[in-house]
Amino acid sequence: MRLLLVEDTPDLARAVQEFLRGEGHAVDHAATLDEAGAAMAVAEYACVILDLGLPDGSGLTLLRNRRGAGDRTPVLIATARDQISDRIAGLDAGADDYVVKPFDLRELSARIRAHARRGQGAPANRLAVAGLEVDRAGAKVWRAGEELRLTAREWSLFEALLGARGRILSKPALEEALYAFDDTIEGNAVEVYVSRLRQKLGPGVIETRRGLGYMIA
Ligand code: CA
Repeated sequence: MRLLLVEDTPDLARAVQEFLRGEGHAVDHAATLDEAGAAMAVAEYACVILDLGLPDGSGLTLLRNRRGAGDRTPVLIATARDQISDRIAGLDAGADDYVVKPFDLRELSARIRAHARRGQGAPANRLAVAGLEVDRAGAKVWRAGEELRLTAREWSLFEALLGARGRILSKPALEEALYAFDDTIEGNAVEVYVSRLRQKLGPGVIETRRGLGYMIA
């Protein structure tokens, strides 16, 4: 899924970004409120990880502005400020959750997945679809009891289609879910990943709607 990390401490930003990329997410990074606002204005994120103390102001300002404009993107505040009043202010401003630094990257990742699922209106973790059993939190999928091994990118694509079940996702929408701003996108990358995914999932799971895109019915 596509994520936005708003964090001005370079080492921490690098560590979080690397970890989340390793899990197959496309991660954009913003080091200031300005950059974060610009990214959110043009890209759709499954979740935003938001630091509060930023060089050009408080993350809460951005959060209030976005919520005021009707933006419902899940936002997870990650900050060193562990005082109760800061947590309350964050939640009041429209944050969905709160983690205090230093946080465990695996826990951060699990929370991101939970909020992204809720953002898609599909809070259930385990689901059965097209003859497959899927564990969204654990990023696992089985067919007839046998686990299918997906790469991080293949899982990302599958997860995007799964989150939009019953709707067609266009090639640009899938590219947006798979790639961050600074990633290089090969022209036929989506087709290549869909084809690999089909080989693993078996026939009849991912449908092609010619000229429109792909979907899981
Ligand atoms: Ca900071």
